[in-house]
Amino acid sequence: MKNRVGLVVDDRYLDHCISRRSPENPERIRNLANVVRNQYAGRCRIVQGRQAQMEDIERVHSHFYLEQLKQHSVKDDPYSYDKDTYLMEHSIYTAQLAAGGCLELADSLMTDDLDSAFALIRPPGHHAEPGRGMGFCVFNNVSITAEFLRKSYGLNRILIIDFDAHHGNGTQEAFYDTDEVLVLSLHQRDIFPFTGGAVELGEGKGAGYTINIPVYSQYGDPEYTFLLGRFLQVVVEQYLPQIILVSAGYDAHQDDRMSGITLTTEWFGVATALIKQYADLACDGRLLMVLEGGYNPVSLEASVTETLDSLLTERQGKIGVMHSERANALLVDHPFLNYWTL
Ligand SMILES: [Zn+2]
Repeated sequence: MKNRVGLVVDDRYLDHCISRRSPENPERIRNLANVVRNQYAGRCRIVQGRQAQMEDIERVHSHFYLEQLKQHSVKDDPYSYDKDTYLMEHSIYTAQLAAGGCLELADSLMTDDLDSAFALIRPPGHHAEPGRGMGFCVFNNVSITAEFLRKSYGLNRILIIDFDAHHGNGTQEAFYDTDEVLVLSLHQRDIFPFTGGAVELGEGKGAGYTINIPVYSQYGDPEYTFLLGRFLQVVVEQYLPQIILVSAGYDAHQDDRMSGITLTTEWFGVATALIKQYADLACDGRLLMVLEGGYNPVSLEASVTETLDSLLTERQGKIGVMHSERANALLVDHPFLNYWTL
């Protein structure tokens, strides 16, 4: 297997910046982008991203929100959309490039040009709701990609896995009433954005197709591996996704101060291998991972390279998931079992 892992990495993602004091600033990924280019260019295929068009973005975001953005994103007039989401001259363009990087990789996966891919983009997206940006997020990159796959390729069983420390509220809202996109989010409970309870399960045709796994501070590798493995087993075997998209956030790392979760760097490699195993099982390995949070540049760099190494590794045999008693309680008591069978 040669160059079957695609990568979007582009210095234009550094253009959106309001303040280095914001945790979501270009320094998060500046060095990482160089490391990735230097160490992975030979083994991965660097893919040139594109700018998502407004037509792509409007499948997720409201016209009213986009008009608001256009009016405020002007030179020398930085606009604070909320207390941590800013826009400047380059912001909309950079956000369009972020979404477009994912669309380009999605095209390559669907045409079998690539097996799996990683989009090293910013600004992140999973908090951006259809009607508003929030939590550093302007456009919901992973949701725009899922809508693009429905429209352009007719997909109707798309699985989105979100392992960022925070609940992917924007992604949940975008697909809350449909069964064509299943959103599985593993996140710390009782932190921003204070949504994502286990009882939030979708509505109408979407009932049972939103699955939230809110976990406690101090949970780490054993609990996360167990929960991801077991929920994936149930969902993938019964839903049979045609592609897996991942909101890959790295702020649940033990060295990232944005959450109380204590994952190690190695966990991100294990999680990637687990997800890849299920992508191989259900959808010819089609897997697109999209960067979300991760605010400690050192742990972010180590964890993203761990992820890429895992994507590049051919594994033999099934990955075992160690039992975790306290995490098992979250599984067996979870209301998703009204819709799915253990
Ligand atoms: Zn986060």
